[in-house]
Amino acid sequence: MARALQACLDGEVDEVTAQRVAVHGEGCRRCGVEITVYREIKNSLARQEVPDEAAMARLRAFGADLLTTGPAEAGDEAARLGGT
Ligand SMILES: [Zn+2]
Repeated sequence: MARALQACLDGEVDEVTAQRVAVHGEGCRRCGVEITVYREIKNSLARQEVPDEAAMARLRAFGADLLTTGPAEAGDEAARLGGT
């Protein structure tokens, strides 16, 4: 079943089989979970084909920025929010 599931999720089976597996996944909890997990893995793999390096760098820069300018920014924010 696992192999059929994989082939199905990889789009290597005909529509009838894919449909049957999908229906089975809805009725069979174990296969349903397997289908969901496998789909998630495939999705995240697909997403990360475009390296997340830039986003990570931006996040890191943002974090460093917060560390260095944090207090001042926080004060500004408080003032803007109507503090004393
Ligand atoms: Zn099953």
